[in-house]
Amino acid sequence: MCLFCKIVNKEIPANVIAENDDFLAFHDINPKAPVHILAIPKKHVDSFIEVSPETMAGMTTFIQDLAHEVKIQKSGYRVITNIGENGGQEVKHLHFHVLGGSKLAWGHFSDADPKNNL
Ligand code: AMP
Repeated sequence: MCLFCKIVNKEIPANVIAENDDFLAFHDINPKAPVHILAIPKKHVDSFIEVSPETMAGMTTFIQDLAHEVKIQKSGYRVITNIGENGGQEVKHLHFHVLGGSKLAWGHFSDADPKNNL
């Protein structure tokens, strides 16, 4: 069973913020911003590559409500999902990073020089 399935099954503790029948949100253990929450589907999906439109529709509402709940909807926030090796996905259970609480940097994301792709 994967790490996040164990969190869903409460075999591993997590700092849960929001939950419904299909989705769970908890604080990232290694926060990269004042607010750094992970939103996941309870049913295992490896990554964004496999996710259904129905799950994404539910996830959209879940994240929008979550942003209200933690009071970042007015100040703004960022939603990221890392996909596969080049995307930097470490946990192979679909998750959306919800980052906010301060002005987020927009940095250099690639190890390769982006100018080489022009
Ligand atoms: P990613 O690199 O997109 O796969 O992100 C995985 C995220 O999961 C990282 O930001 C980790 O800090 C976070 N993480 C790993 N283990 C836990 C855990 N037990 N509880 C909460 N967050 C975790």
